[in-house]
Amino acid sequence: SFNESTGSLNRSYNDISEHENGIYVIVRSRPLSTKENRASEPSIVSFPGNGRILVEGFQTIGGSNGPKSKLFSFNVVFEPASTQEDIFQYSGIKKLIEMAAEGFNTTCFCYGQTGSGKTHTLTGPPGMFFNKRIEPFSADHGLVFRSFMYLFRLVQQRQDLHFVLKASFLEIYNEKVIDLLNPGTVRKPLDVRWSRKARNFYVDNLFMVDCEELDDLQAVLEEGMKNRTVGSHNMNECSSRSHTMLTVYITSEQQISEDGVFITKQGKINFVDLAGSEMTKKTMSEGKTLEEANNINKSLMVLGYCIASLSDPKKRKGHIPYRDSKLTKLLSDSLAGTGVTLMIACISPARSNASETISTLRYAARAKKIKTKPVIVMFHRRFKVFLDNY
Ligand code: ADP
Ligand code: MG
Repeated sequence: SFNESTGSLNRSYNDISEHENGIYVIVRSRPLSTKENRASEPSIVSFPGNGRILVEGFQTIGGSNGPKSKLFSFNVVFEPASTQEDIFQYSGIKKLIEMAAEGFNTTCFCYGQTGSGKTHTLTGPPGMFFNKRIEPFSADHGLVFRSFMYLFRLVQQRQDLHFVLKASFLEIYNEKVIDLLNPGTVRKPLDVRWSRKARNFYVDNLFMVDCEELDDLQAVLEEGMKNRTVGSHNMNECSSRSHTMLTVYITSEQQISEDGVFITKQGKINFVDLAGSEMTKKTMSEGKTLEEANNINKSLMVLGYCIASLSDPKKRKGHIPYRDSKLTKLLSDSLAGTGVTLMIACISPARSNASETISTLRYAARAKKIKTKPVIVMFHRRFKVFLDNY
């Protein structure tokens, strides 16, 4: 069913029942912090089992009817005592990496208020990459590095396929796309363009690093994390307002006939550390103009609109505003239903964070309703060639 002479792009539907053809949503609660413990803050979050989370004893704004409680249900939930390795083993990320290696566009994104553990979950505790290089491996290493290790093991096992791995790392701050890897263009915004051939958005001139070894991927992670800080005046302010996206591009090539027909599959995995979710509310409550809002967190707001539309059966087939922000453009293939998405909702158990925790869990519950139809991005070619343009 492919056009051999032109080697044109084929997209085939694949059934993946493991992901129930939807966005896979998990929740991680961090422990109470030292500060919260010192202030004797109670935890309002408990885990009755079967992917359920109970939030109780919180007060709604202006609520006069006493403490409220609410029960949520997700694919998997992680209690505060969960380790980084637990998240890696049971979050579904391994399946995501396997699918990326098979040619799917996949995304793992962390959502939650500032301080809820998004960066900790993805990359590890603060300072992980600034003070020392952690050798060779520690319990603190986050999901990204664990995924790199898993991916390399996978690639080495498949001797029948020829793999090429590349990586990029960008930041979206004030709706500007900044390359965190290319020193020449650091802090110089890049354009997001539409590729007619790949039917996908991509970042023009984004630096792509060839990654032949695990060390190369680790270097990408370290370099990007360092550049993110170096370029900002106020690290906290910046990391709560910006989104980062580390992408690993996985090309595999397999010869399927003696006379030189190759199948090339192009998958990728995006690791996205989103801006603090409290930013959306802040923007709205401060009554900022649209333009000001654009400059703060348009991407996060548009992501919210996209998720709301996609999760509503009545709106799903209508207009989804992917084009309205940089982030949603770059995630459109993951959200639109041709990709596979893992959302990690990060929450704080402290009572003082109750309203943000409830709002994150509501957002996550909505995202769970999104239906997808993942497809493999695949080319059939007469000649052995690698395609650079994602
Ligand atoms: P965010 O990126 O969502 O703003 P961070 O990942 O920076 O939040 O986490 C805030 C603080 O809480 C950090 O000091 C981090 O190390 C700590 N923390 C977050 N999650 C955990 C966890 N699961 N276990 C221990 N400490 C955590
Ligand atoms: Mg962070």
